[in-house]
Amino acid sequence: MNAPTKTPNASGWKPGTPVEGHNAVSGPDTVTGNRALMLEEPLIFEIAGNGSTGVDLPEPVGGTNRLGGMERSAPIGLPGLSEPETVRHYTRLSRQNYAIDLGLFPLGSCTMKHNPRLNEKVARMPGFADVHPLQPVDTVRGALEVVNELAHWLIELTGMHGVAMSPKAGAHGELCGILCIRAALEARGDAREVILVPESAHGTNPATAAFAGYRVEDIPATADGRVDLEALKARLGPDVAGVMITNPNTCGLFERDMKAISDAVHAAGGFVYCDGANFNAIVGKVRPGDLGVDAMHINLHKTFSTPHGGGGPGSGPVVLSEALSPYGPLPYTARTKDGVVHLIEEEGAEAFSQEHFGGSMDSFGRMTAFHGQMGMFTRALTYILSHGADGLRQVAEDAVLNANYILRSLEDVLHAPFGDSGPCMHEALFGDRGFAEGLSTLDLAKGLIDEGFHPMTMYFPLVVHGAMLVEPTETESRAALDQFIGALRSVAERAKAGDESLKTAPHYAPRRRLDETQAARKPVLAWDDPNLV
Ligand SMILES: *Cc1c(COP(=O)(O)O)cnc(C)c1O
Repeated sequence: MNAPTKTPNASGWKPGTPVEGHNAVSGPDTVTGNRALMLEEPLIFEIAGNGSTGVDLPEPVGGTNRLGGMERSAPIGLPGLSEPETVRHYTRLSRQNYAIDLGLFPLGSCTMKHNPRLNEKVARMPGFADVHPLQPVDTVRGALEVVNELAHWLIELTGMHGVAMSPKAGAHGELCGILCIRAALEARGDAREVILVPESAHGTNPATAAFAGYRVEDIPATADGRVDLEALKARLGPDVAGVMITNPNTCGLFERDMKAISDAVHAAGGFVYCDGANFNAIVGKVRPGDLGVDAMHINLHKTFSTPHGGGGPGSGPVVLSEALSPYGPLPYTARTKDGVVHLIEEEGAEAFSQEHFGGSMDSFGRMTAFHGQMGMFTRALTYILSHGADGLRQVAEDAVLNANYILRSLEDVLHAPFGDSGPCMHEALFGDRGFAEGLSTLDLAKGLIDEGFHPMTMYFPLVVHGAMLVEPTETESRAALDQFIGALRSVAERAKAGDESLKTAPHYAPRRRLDETQAARKPVLAWDDPNLV
């Protein structure tokens, strides 16, 4: 099949002319558009546009065409590249990515920590990597033991009763927890309609509650960035199904009133959902079960170092209190009467329970077809076992120490809205107060790209103007933190001094400032072959 002849570089780029939007760092233009090792790379369709093909298929011999005249008569326009050309294309593109393996990734509320290579080694062992969920149980005992062992650790670390392992991300876990709450309320014939969510909550919290059919109401924050306990108590009543509270919260602060909040919610007949995405700050130090939490998702891909942010699938097991455990989704893991954690309980055989202990069938159903993210379970358990109980506690301590180091090192140049509320937890929060007229958090973030760093989380939480949320994690060394602090300090000083060049930053990235509004509102997601249109 012959592909149509296309002009190379259909995007209009001509050798020797700087590509539109490409960085125009001072220095002579290159004829290729490349700048040393930073290679200009068109779309794969554009470079493969000369009718070439990556594979040679023999002309079909014999056989009768049974397509009844329905066969394709025009080429479908797939790019034709050889294997080395294809590999080079994607490798070049990959070099324009930022990754945790390249440098500090300060994205707040994301826990971008180093992913130990040991995790990868274990996850690639054939007994874990190549199992199929429909294999006979007898052939996957080791894999099931991994799930059970991880479940055991999650229950112990959180002081909870049971855990649903199958949810596949934090947000999926939130839905799982809220569906447990709904099932528990329905079981007692109690139709409640409202879920209370603090102003500073991650967007997934109100989205989850609304998706599960609840009306969402805000709980205000106090001036020191925490949930207003009195306002919460005043709102509680027979229509409130529960609250969703992130602890530590998205202002990087520990909710000190958590136990009082839980007691008040329980006294009013509701349930407490805790968003556990920030568990890294308290793992080994605080057990959410002791604070009265009924359900909490754990982002294995944050706290327990399984790759994320484009690097791997998430995994969001949900730990449950004794009150909610009977309603958890199948398959299911929980403490039995003797207090031991069991994955199953079928005549001594290890398999996933399709029924709850004691034969109760109150489960709200399933979250996934099978058991969850096996690869992430293996990585998370490897991480947990290689750290041990004391190592996990130190993770939390070091993560908090690193964040406070950043907070205190920068509060003289960047406004720290809750800097007076005491130490932060695992993330440092700054606002844009003091920036020169016309310069914003966005400009500072773009300036940070020129310094070789991925920007921090911006404009979240919403309660702080021009918010910048920085989460260094425990895996950064003092030297790495100092380098980042130096870079951020310099860009912050430029923002305060009114350095106009920040408005057009980044200047050294493969592309300069993009129109992000246009990109979000009118994304160009398809490539039209100029020779076919
Ligand atoms: C990351 C995060 C979530 C959502 O987790 P996903 O795995 O991305 O779905 C929810 N809440 C908070 C506070 C988070 O940081």
